[in-house]
Amino acid sequence: MDKKLIVANWKCNPTTFKKAELLFDLIKKGLKNIKNVEVVICPPFVYLTTINKKRETSIKTGGQDCFWKKKGPFTGEVSPDMLKDLGCRYVIIGHSERRRYFSETDTMINKKLKLTLKKKLKPILCIDKISQVKKDLKGISRGEIKNIVLAYEPLFAIGTGKTASPEKAAEFNLSIKRILGDKVLILYGGSVSSKNARGFIQESGFQGLLIGGASLRAKEFIRIVKNIDSLR
Ligand code: PEP
Repeated sequence: MDKKLIVANWKCNPTTFKKAELLFDLIKKGLKNIKNVEVVICPPFVYLTTINKKRETSIKTGGQDCFWKKKGPFTGEVSPDMLKDLGCRYVIIGHSERRRYFSETDTMINKKLKLTLKKKLKPILCIDKISQVKKDLKGISRGEIKNIVLAYEPLFAIGTGKTASPEKAAEFNLSIKRILGDKVLILYGGSVSSKNARGFIQESGFQGLLIGGASLRAKEFIRIVKNIDSLR
């Protein structure tokens, strides 16, 4: 079985360095013997240095966003080079909260994707509509699309406790594969818990999960990863 990918998006949490360290230590301890899942933790930028020092090679890290220029007069921004230099392998791009609260457009997302791919940082592109795919991936070759991870995150499911039905999610999964080919890795995200996680892999055919709220509760996150790790 190919490894599944589980990405933890901590968003703007936890509020102190101490709490972030504790959360990471608990997760790391609980995931010592995981074999069939690649776990990626995406904490706020300010915690990345410490977490990258503490992590073991089996746990990877990622940024929650990055800029489309490699450096320069862009106050507040973080570039893909900076993330790579800290040891990150992944970066989330186009999360619906960035689109909604920070007015990120498909054009901006497209530029971010192009630079991260050039810098060999793996982008996790979040979408909730098929129509975003074409715009976000404009000018990116088939060969490069294979290096992008896609995350289907229906808006109504993010942080609400509601999830897409396994059938609807499977339909979306198939539609994306029809457009981009079956080499693209697709995750499901939106109110994933230890109760529903397996369904998205087994019934809907996703190759992994993007987890927000539940990734801030160490025990629950570990339970989800173990549930997926034990799938045959
Ligand atoms: C997310 O915001 O990417 C997400 C999946 O959040 P949650 O799991 O809390 O719904």
